[in-house]
Amino acid sequence: MIHPNTELKFISEQVGYGVFATLDIPEGTIVYVKDSLELVVSPTDYLMHSEDMKEVIEKYSYIDEKGDRIISWDFAKYVNHCCNCNSISTGYGFEIAIRDIKKGEQITDEYGIFNLDQPMSLVCGEPHCRKEIKPSDFDDYHQEWDEKIRRSIVKLFAVEQPLMPFIDVATREELDELFRNPKSYKSVYALKYQKMPIGNDTGKY
Ligand SMILES: [Zn+2]
Repeated sequence: MIHPNTELKFISEQVGYGVFATLDIPEGTIVYVKDSLELVVSPTDYLMHSEDMKEVIEKYSYIDEKGDRIISWDFAKYVNHCCNCNSISTGYGFEIAIRDIKKGEQITDEYGIFNLDQPMSLVCGEPHCRKEIKPSDFDDYHQEWDEKIRRSIVKLFAVEQPLMPFIDVATREELDELFRNPKSYKSVYALKYQKMPIGNDTGKY
């Protein structure tokens, strides 16, 4: 579920749609939460779809730490990547604003965390654009992402959080623990899908 103070807008033929702030959203605000209504496409379900349908799923989903493809039921699925993003996924299953987002500004995030199995070319136009999202981004950048998250997550309880009611109880407890003991911080690396090699003996893949 995307933050209520946002709207969907058409950007261009090349980019398609994007999500924009309708009011200022301060740093530390939860801008997206994986709620209980999101569509979950398991790896087995995914294989049952036609090639055309798989393309649609790929376009609108991200892959979580269990390997499931998650498609938002609302327009959270239209948030674009930016190499200088203003929001980012956290190890707690929600995304937070990592700087103040102004009214009218596009909300962007980091697709390197989405466990893409294929490289994806980028058109974000930032001076330090990586040009491509690679499956190795998680390993190459997670420390940098954690630094950004840790700087902003300390503001979590200091700003208005309209999405807080949609955070599950277990995650709330983890957050309370984080504020009692900053060393309990859960790295964004927790979101990495650790694919098991084919033929392993756990019966999973
Ligand atoms: Zn870029």
